[in-house]
Amino acid sequence: MTQQHVNRRDFLKHAAAGAAALGFATPAIAQNAGGRVVVVGGGFAGASCARALKRIDPRVTVTLVEASHTFTACPFSNGVIGGLRDLKAQQFDYKKVQASGINVTFEPATRVDTDARTVVIGDAARLPYDRLVLAPGIDIRWDALSGYNEAAAERMPHAWRAGEQTLLLRKQLESMEDGGLVVISAPANPFRCPPGPYERASLIAHYLKTRKPKSKLIILDAKDAFSKQGLFLGAWKELYPELIEWVPLSKGGRVTAVDPKTNTLTTEFGSHKAAVANVIPPQKAARIAESAGVTDTTGWCPIDPVTFESKLRPNIHVIGDACIAGGMPKSAFAANSQAKGCAAALAKLLNGEKPEEPKLINTCYSLVAPDYGISVAGVYSPVNGQWTDVKGAGGVSPAKAPRSDRQLEANFANGWFKTITEEVFG
Ligand SMILES: Cc1cc2nc3c(=O)[nH]c(=O)nc-3n(C[C@H](O)[C@H](O)[C@H](O)COP(=O)(O)OP(=O)(O)OC[C@H]3O[C@@H](n4cnc5c(N)ncnc54)[C@H](O)[C@@H]3O)c2cc1C
Repeated sequence: MTQQHVNRRDFLKHAAAGAAALGFATPAIAQNAGGRVVVVGGGFAGASCARALKRIDPRVTVTLVEASHTFTACPFSNGVIGGLRDLKAQQFDYKKVQASGINVTFEPATRVDTDARTVVIGDAARLPYDRLVLAPGIDIRWDALSGYNEAAAERMPHAWRAGEQTLLLRKQLESMEDGGLVVISAPANPFRCPPGPYERASLIAHYLKTRKPKSKLIILDAKDAFSKQGLFLGAWKELYPELIEWVPLSKGGRVTAVDPKTNTLTTEFGSHKAAVANVIPPQKAARIAESAGVTDTTGWCPIDPVTFESKLRPNIHVIGDACIAGGMPKSAFAANSQAKGCAAALAKLLNGEKPEEPKLINTCYSLVAPDYGISVAGVYSPVNGQWTDVKGAGGVSPAKAPRSDRQLEANFANGWFKTITEEVFG
């Protein structure tokens, strides 16, 4: 990410170019297209892609395969953990997606038969495709951290897929006595939502400051640098002095083992017994991507940046957190942006045309307190086969800004969540 202030003129210029390249001004770009596209995963990437494709070319038969009837959004779920909002505010159904002409199947995709070009759903049913889009998000790497498995997550929640885990972490914080120690372990890159652990630390600190002021929070980190670091550290000094301690990799922050029986996290330098432990473990592309043969040794999916087609299997496109998107972070904003780029490319490919090179955008807002927002923005273009940051087109919120600006950015963050969820599910 570019660590300079946002140059709004450049950002808007590139963003406008990106939108034009995605073809939204000219919805009828693929006059003779048709064909069958199956999208697996109805999150920010998959549902956005299905809807954008249908909008660009209504003749394409689009089928969305989603495991759950209710989507629970991760963005703003840190607010649920901090006691600022209800989990219901995070939940969306697929009625409007269905009403927009997309067939929605509520079953998990269990397998992809790449030779027959079919997706197996449930036990045996098969869905044929001309092009398949995989947008399944992440899975936890259960084998990556000694002592951490699905049973351990019931005691030491990760809350990195929103839902029950989010509520569990919230309940543990509510039951904790004043003076308790909260420990968050943050993984090495790459992982879903690079600023997420630090936003979470901030909103938990806000809860502790207002309700349990004798408590402390330690972040044990497997890295020495993190997204919007200067802004977070500055805001913590201002809002939560003495409350949050960040322990980077070089100071022994990497967690090497956990013990759910004693709620202890061990690093190379010692161990921490927590009243509440939030273990955010290493991650990988969700299982269906692995079984379709589109993951590499990193556990993520290499793609062509213009078409999002897998570099490992033809006719399968991967978008959202599951794909390797170069400089783009794994965020809902990026997933939505990629989804539109992929939909535009699919419409061209199905019509036998060459996809255009889009520019994509991302903005990640974080709340440090309910009235204190910060952001990082970027514009990306395909360079040497990878999404690459366009220099000078993005940046972060200014280090020194009046509180009224931070309030404005908090408002923008709320506005962004409302807009994106309305666009995808509304
Ligand atoms: C705490 C937290 C805070 C965050 N805050 C922000 C933020 O402020 N801004 C931001 O931009 N991003 C944020 N993110 C990141 C954001 O949530 C992800 O980047 C985004 O959800 C990725 O979208 P996706 O579509 O790739 O995956 P998801 O949104 O996870 O969607 C994947 C979908 O696929 C389905 N699925 C998986 N496998 C199958 C299968 N085999 N068959 C059928 N369906 C399947 C799942 O049920 C799910 O609905 C945050 C994340 C976390 C954890």
